[in-house]
Amino acid sequence: MKNISILGSTGSIGVNTLNIVRRHPAMFRVMGLSAGENIDRLKAQIQEFRPRMVSVATEQGADRLTRAFPLPRDFNILIGVEGCRSVATIPEVDLVVSAMVGSHGLLPTMDAINQKKTLALANKESLVMAGEIVMTAARTNKVAIIPVDSEHSAIFQCIRGNRRKEIRRIILTASGGPFLGMSAEQIRRVTPEEALCHPRWKMGKKITIDSATMMNKGFEILEAKWLFDMDYDAIGVYIHPESIVHSLVEYRDGSILAQLGLPDMKLPIAYALSYPARLESPDGSFLDLDAVGTLQFMKADPEKIPALALAYHAGRCGGTLPAVMNGANEKAVEAFLHRRISFYEILDIVEKVMSMHHVIQEPDLEDILAADGWAKGQVAKIIEERIGHC
Ligand code: MG
Repeated sequence: MKNISILGSTGSIGVNTLNIVRRHPAMFRVMGLSAGENIDRLKAQIQEFRPRMVSVATEQGADRLTRAFPLPRDFNILIGVEGCRSVATIPEVDLVVSAMVGSHGLLPTMDAINQKKTLALANKESLVMAGEIVMTAARTNKVAIIPVDSEHSAIFQCIRGNRRKEIRRIILTASGGPFLGMSAEQIRRVTPEEALCHPRWKMGKKITIDSATMMNKGFEILEAKWLFDMDYDAIGVYIHPESIVHSLVEYRDGSILAQLGLPDMKLPIAYALSYPARLESPDGSFLDLDAVGTLQFMKADPEKIPALALAYHAGRCGGTLPAVMNGANEKAVEAFLHRRISFYEILDIVEKVMSMHHVIQEPDLEDILAADGWAKGQVAKIIEERIGHC
């Protein structure tokens, strides 16, 4: 029996995690849940899974929850990032699923590592922002970080039983998102509704927009660098529209190992929960090779995909620049979803803010959080100015 906490329980990863827990009640016990604003969904999760502690974003949310139904006397409702940090560090918890969206995930993720919890990591932003700090803490505390991101789960599976120094390169696959093959002119006019319609994966809003701009793949380059201790030169990206091969690892003898599966997040989540064991297929569905037919791979050229160029640049430069890229992107995506900027402006603004930043090398956590705050402030300023000029 593993005791688990889920950070971001009402989001897409959280809900899928609980779907798996529901099927295996003898294997997992839910001790803590943290959520944002979706109080109705959290309420249903509390009634079903009976955690001991929950955290919500706001005091109003906590009030609504308290009024919703009679709570057991020893039940704790906490608030905000501090609440989330408490959920991440419940003493009896063995494994923390870190699935919050964005930079808010960094501190609770660090807390879980420092309390020696096994980490099922879906919050890639924490590795993008502070990869070196997160991985150093994991090594010091002898904590396993098991990736939930489908590409990194694939790589994690392909390197098991092999020698790290014999890896020649890692190949991340990308579906290409909803705008593959569109002209620059068409992409300029994309609406939030169009960008939220991903052809292969059903995900939360922020990551769906990140997939449409390809920034998600950019983040995954940094995520792979830190998780698998690879040089940026040894991480490549291929467009693979079918989303069946989730990523590949090439070895020095010429062998390439790949992991294939249906494009369904339940698979990598289940593997992260049960690792090193494998559970039965979550919904009894298996990849039908007859139906798959042809698989295509096209090299993604960073010269032609701005998000990849920005990510390689941020990664190679290092220091606080990746945190700035992440913070600026988060704020710009939010503005796009609120229709304050257009789709192509997202990366335009991220690039601008990155170019304005004075990079601090070997940052500590405080420097990184300050860089994140600075980047978000700059985005807000740029947007105000642009709107003012219209
Ligand atoms: Mg992914």
